[in-house]
Amino acid sequence: MNILLTGASGFVGSHLATRLVREGHFVLGVDNFCTGRAKNISELRTEPNFDFIEADASKPIFNNVRSNLKTKTTKFDWVMHLASPASPPKYFALPLETMLVNGEGTRHLLEFARESKASFFFSSTSEVYGDPSIHPQPESYWGNVNSIGVRSIYDEAKRYAEAMIYAYYRLYGQDVRLIRIFNTYGPKMDPEDGRVVTNLMFQALKNEPMTIYGDGKQTRSFQYVDDLVEGIIRLMKTDYVWPVNLGNPEEFTILEFAEAVKRLIPTESKIVFQSLPEDDPKQRKPDITLAKKLMGWEPQVKLEAGLKRTLEYFKTELA
Ligand code: UDP
Repeated sequence: MNILLTGASGFVGSHLATRLVREGHFVLGVDNFCTGRAKNISELRTEPNFDFIEADASKPIFNNVRSNLKTKTTKFDWVMHLASPASPPKYFALPLETMLVNGEGTRHLLEFARESKASFFFSSTSEVYGDPSIHPQPESYWGNVNSIGVRSIYDEAKRYAEAMIYAYYRLYGQDVRLIRIFNTYGPKMDPEDGRVVTNLMFQALKNEPMTIYGDGKQTRSFQYVDDLVEGIIRLMKTDYVWPVNLGNPEEFTILEFAEAVKRLIPTESKIVFQSLPEDDPKQRKPDITLAKKLMGWEPQVKLEAGLKRTLEYFKTELA
């Protein structure tokens, strides 16, 4: 298949691109490196089945696509839109870019998919559930989002994108897939992304204080990136058009997560408590009943094993 993939140099996008190319598909990656990193796709760029355009996915990219292709292919089977800043510090720093790539970008790419008769795939987020009052969160939960809060630039942009996607589905019968990704970690994460996984692991590696925001009793459920990619591949093979949660339902408090990091990395680091960011969700855990039923998918990689693999990569980043 021919696949247009935005966000191809990002953490998730680069893993997905690698997997798709390995399966024999042609992938045209698009990224403007606003948070993605060129090194994530440096090996892919030598593959005959991978091509890349440096472009902002929030703007129409059709002409760019047509004139820049190695293969001159203009027929795509899939348009997969993963481009977006995704860690809180990054989307706080890029508020308009975040809103535009999920808002305008989604609209342009839906148009492109419609014109090309391609299926459209979108990476939404557990953030659409906001600070959830239902636990764990099934896809049917409408969420508890502060529309004017600091995180709204991301949460509401993703919710707008979801609404746009289902408008195209209802209006034009556009074929769509939509996943809601819960906290995901693994090799190729940006050490500077400011997330809890990167912060605490690098702090432990450097014997620096490990920063816990708030009392550390808030929870997250951490999914290893290979499990996510497997879920994406399986969903592409179904004809299910509605949102599907992809996340690991094993839930940890942030303090428990810090302890797991300390067990893995011998360190002199001490835990320090810092203030909790505004609107930081108190709990987060996916209900994955649907993904299990639909495609027999469930995460295979336990936190400890996933963190070990991630650590190997982080050591090479430090070196
Ligand atoms: N967090 C923390 N220390 C850090 C970074 C994050 O305690 O150095 C907390 C953060 O407040 C949140 C959780 O860890 O409660 C997960 O944060 P992250 O930024 O990884 O992702 P989120 O799930 O909030 O989008």
